[in-house]
Amino acid sequence: MSSLTDLGAAAMLAALRTGEVSSHELTRACLERIQDLDSSYRAFLTLTPELAMKTAAAADRRWMDWRKDPQTPPPPLLGIPLAVKDLLCLKDVRLTCGSRILDQFIAPFTATCVQRLLDAGMVPLGKTNTDEFAMGSSTENSAYQVTRNPWNLERVPGGSSGGSAAAVAAYLTPAAIGTDTGGSVRQPAAFCGVTGLKPTYGRVSRYGLVAFGSSLDSVGVLARSVEDVSLIFAQMAGVDPLDATSQDVPVPDCSMDGVKSLAGLRVGVPHEYFIAGISPDVEKAVRSAISVLEGLGAQIVEISLPHTSYALPVYYLIAPAEASANLARYDGVRYGLREGGRIPGDTLLAMFEKTRGLGFGAEVKRRIMLGTYALSAGYYDAYYGQAQKVRTLIKTDFDRAFEQVDVIAAPVAPSTAFKFGQHSDDPLAMYLEDVFTLPANLAGVPALAFPAGFDRQGLPVGLQLMGPHFREDLLLRTAHAYQLVTDWHRCLPPTPNLAKVN
Ligand code: GLN
Repeated sequence: MSSLTDLGAAAMLAALRTGEVSSHELTRACLERIQDLDSSYRAFLTLTPELAMKTAAAADRRWMDWRKDPQTPPPPLLGIPLAVKDLLCLKDVRLTCGSRILDQFIAPFTATCVQRLLDAGMVPLGKTNTDEFAMGSSTENSAYQVTRNPWNLERVPGGSSGGSAAAVAAYLTPAAIGTDTGGSVRQPAAFCGVTGLKPTYGRVSRYGLVAFGSSLDSVGVLARSVEDVSLIFAQMAGVDPLDATSQDVPVPDCSMDGVKSLAGLRVGVPHEYFIAGISPDVEKAVRSAISVLEGLGAQIVEISLPHTSYALPVYYLIAPAEASANLARYDGVRYGLREGGRIPGDTLLAMFEKTRGLGFGAEVKRRIMLGTYALSAGYYDAYYGQAQKVRTLIKTDFDRAFEQVDVIAAPVAPSTAFKFGQHSDDPLAMYLEDVFTLPANLAGVPALAFPAGFDRQGLPVGLQLMGPHFREDLLLRTAHAYQLVTDWHRCLPPTPNLAKVN
């Protein structure tokens, strides 16, 4: 073992089980690596070293108890360090959502999915950077810092879960939690060369996830292998009485035992995902990944998802509309920042205006304005109402496709990681980065991104698999079969700082 931080979650568990390492050692190794390297990546917004070391010590005591008395199995993630996107509540820890408006806010409770991971034995290392309120595709919209892509420090890590993706790619943590409203787990996973799952809408509780687009938001996982993603996903999933949209559908067995061949699996390839504008390198890597699936026995079927081109305008009406309602709560009264309202003559309205004017960044303001417009009397039917109808057509596309095929394979994003500032002045160009990820959110289906090669500049390319509602197991098992015969997910970022690790 060259370095403890090289280990993925499953390998860490195996080493903890044999007693080869302690959670104390694993956690310390991650924290030291963060200390040494995160000034280059800037993936973390808040670190929780005391909480981490305390939790690790408790995990080690439990492992010792288990060794003395192996009757009761230890919790499934006992002693594994993890990072959490700073859009999810962890009690008594700062929660910023990448926004100034929540700068000093301390979470008063823990999100259900995070609590489930804690109950399963997770050791929380800290909170990772995000675009403000998860609005963005590059993490450049964070009010605090710019996170760098470990594959090339001049490039964005993708977004909005860019902090989580960079932390996993740079071996600062074996895995991290992200959120995905329109692609925010999958696109940064693809840009940073890691594996990321967006579960079915309703599969993982949203209680304690700060709302962006409530009908689209889902909590997912990023790690360096499908096996690790699956291990963690299994602990987060399941119905929660605190989230009325969470679904009581049994979580299928996501173990990877016996996965090898894909014989009998029908993989649909939608021609609408290979449009003009997609980078030729991305298309080449994606097509060759699809032929690897074919080589494993899958049957490749050309399919059509005819309403794909509407996903972008539909999403950019529905998501801002929901965001404008969800963000109305940041008024300077109940949460975080308050500006004005203290001097005589300062009205309540002035306080709202000053607080929101100073607290929100440009992209959040743009979304609030777009969303408020789309919902306003007179325009509601023409924009929001119409978008909802087209959303149904997009969902129907998927329903029809899944009568024909088991999973759908497609690119994650039209390009690989772009340079800082490349899309900063052009919101539309930034929104276009999401064309291939938005449909799964609009339809509510699960989707998985995983490494499928590199472009000519040495930047990772991802393959996306989408599946029927609640069939994350199909996606995970298919991708695992792929990872058994390919090495893309094992490649390390070649940054000078990481040269020592092999
Ligand atoms: N990039 C998309 C947006 O800006 C998706 C973000 C997300 O999934 N949170 O809305």
